Amino acid sequence: MSSSHHLNAGSSSQVAVEVFWKSVWKIHLPPKLKIFLWSLLHDKLPTNDLIHARLPHFDPNCRFCGEVENVKHLLFSCHHAASIWIDSPLRLRSSLFQALDIKDCWLELLSPLKDHFDRQNLIQIAVFIMWHIWKSRNAFIFQNIRHNPAETIALALQHHEEFANVESLQIRAPVESIDHAVLWTPPPQHCIKLNFDAAIDRLRQRGSIAVIARNWEGKPVDWCCKVLDSIWDPLVLEGLACREAMLLGISRNFHSMMVEGDSLMIIEAVSNNMAPLSIQSIIQDVCQLANRFNLVSFSHVKRSGNQFAHDLAAHTLRDPSFSCNRVAQQQFVLDYMLI
Ligand SMILES: [Zn+2]
Repeated sequence: MSSSHHLNAGSSSQVAVEVFWKSVWKIHLPPKLKIFLWSLLHDKLPTNDLIHARLPHFDPNCRFCGEVENVKHLLFSCHHAASIWIDSPLRLRSSLFQALDIKDCWLELLSPLKDHFDRQNLIQIAVFIMWHIWKSRNAFIFQNIRHNPAETIALALQHHEEFANVESLQIRAPVESIDHAVLWTPPPQHCIKLNFDAAIDRLRQRGSIAVIARNWEGKPVDWCCKVLDSIWDPLVLEGLACREAMLLGISRNFHSMMVEGDSLMIIEAVSNNMAPLSIQSIIQDVCQLANRFNLVSFSHVKRSGNQFAHDLAAHTLRDPSFSCNRVAQQQFVLDYMLI
């Protein structure tokens, strides 16, 4: 392959990197698979070599063939993966994958599709196949269930078709269903809705998180806001805000609650208990805390439906004394209700 494909060399590398990530984000995928693709291209999938680097007694080898399992091996070089790619609709030979860097492997995968009339569809299918290679690996390791390559391909294609069908349904869906997620709506009786959000001050390298709990009448029953010094990663902050909602629910002994946030990544990660490495432990914690409630649901809402939590987080960040001043907070919440 030509050197222009490589991301790490050359004077225009910064531009190439930006173009690369833009093209990755443009791929139309379910959020779960977007997180997966993001993780693997950052080499953050918890493959055996990465676990071994942290826990030296852990076996770094591939369970299919005994070679060291890194993300390239798992998804492309291992005979298990190789027979999946060659028999898939993409008909890719494992000899195509020469690069060591996983991002370059991804570009190598894309290059034969460049002028294909059905390019977008095939790229989607490629991601579904990688996802199902990962799932088949996990099923083998954790459940001792072994899918042969043909079964893995069939599962990937079926999953992709379901996604494509839902997509075409959503395009035809009436406008009302979209409006629903834009506005805040109260929970049913006896249930509490907790909206969470985060705000970031990159300059001072800190963030804030906020949770507002409201009942079926829309009345605030409790809230929480905190400044977190030296945390300014949006995803980490959103994850911590979601976790804070769980803690508030536990401290108030809520039995049934709906947790709502405007970060689709977090909601998807919690719903599937699968997240990028940077927030994996936070998400696992949220999932564990969720077990304490009789009923808890997580849903995504547009920014406009999450305005109260958003404004509370922003105000917390602006005024350093606010987060320890319960009276000022109460005033803020009351004022908010009058708007
Ligand atoms: Zn292998």
